[in-house]
Amino acid sequence: MSGLSISKAPSKHVRVLILGAGPAGLSAALYAARADLQPLVLTGLQLGGQVSLTNTIENYPGFPEGVGGTELGELFQKQAERFGAKVELDSAQSVDLSVRPFKVPTDNGEYSAETLIVSTGANPNLLNVPGEAGLTGRGISYCATCDGWFFKDKQVVVVGGGDSALEEGLFLTRFATSVTIFHRRDSLRAGAILQKRALNHPKIKFVWNTVVTEAIGTEKLTAVKLKNVLTGEESVFLTDGLFIFIGHTPNTQIFAGQLEMENGYIKVDERMHTSVPGVFAAGEAADSHFKQVITSAGMGAAAAIEATRFLEQEVG
Ligand code: NAP
Repeated sequence: MSGLSISKAPSKHVRVLILGAGPAGLSAALYAARADLQPLVLTGLQLGGQVSLTNTIENYPGFPEGVGGTELGELFQKQAERFGAKVELDSAQSVDLSVRPFKVPTDNGEYSAETLIVSTGANPNLLNVPGEAGLTGRGISYCATCDGWFFKDKQVVVVGGGDSALEEGLFLTRFATSVTIFHRRDSLRAGAILQKRALNHPKIKFVWNTVVTEAIGTEKLTAVKLKNVLTGEESVFLTDGLFIFIGHTPNTQIFAGQLEMENGYIKVDERMHTSVPGVFAAGEAADSHFKQVITSAGMGAAAAIEATRFLEQEVG
């Protein structure tokens, strides 16, 4: 034995560590920075969060002409950095919330944090069919509220049978001439009221026991390939838009067993406190309901205000 040991870099200590750099994380960073807490934001793998996947955001106040998703993310970051927030391209590998300061080993090192704000977001589930990745943003969307406007006077299809599919499908009737909902079974998962509204809507048509097996198009989506799961019969359906609402998966796996959750979403009270004192959560990691840029930003601001109060109370 040589007696040599590999020395591990000492963990860097921060007062506020924010995981995730979407609207929730960067709004939390802005507020924590303005409280002079010099927060550190770890971006995770998807810089800017889901908002950066959206072409144009027309429902975030202050931008009457709309704003690009990536551009809005950059503006959030710039504003937080102006007050001293640091943003690093790094991902938490795990967390130890059993004792404070919390320990967070990352791809590039390790942090110890007096408070933690979890804003790791959620990702829409993909169909994982040929053509889907290449045509996303070019006819394929996972957000009717964001992209419905682009389908004015067009025909669109929706995949899914839950509350999201029906709610977003109903929203799309404001723009589209017709909304055809393909569901893999012959009964809906969505709640009764939404079902009633969608089933009775003159612009909405349901096609049961049917799955989309391919998205077709070169520059833009032009059609979807379908398969009837009972008969095996295949067909092609011409369409301008494909909206996929088959559930979201919150990015909360590393908190399992440490933070209380419900269906994978971190449970927070009305002040963004999680089940562990000193840990706060904001945005889609903790929100299965609203899922909007503005609501995530609001949750992020609230989480940072509460983290600030938490640290102040400790000093006494
Ligand atoms: P969800 O309830 O999990 O529904 C997902 C739907 O997609 C289901 O109908 C499912 O079919 C279908 N699906 C899943 N994987 C599929 C695949 N690979 N191919 C085709 N279809 C697939 O998800 P959600 O609608 O996003 O709702 C998530 C949560 O938010 C729910 O708790 C919901 O109640 C809540 N939410 C509430 C509201 C509201 O109250 N206004 C609005 C939106 C969401 P099966 O039914 O066969 O499983």
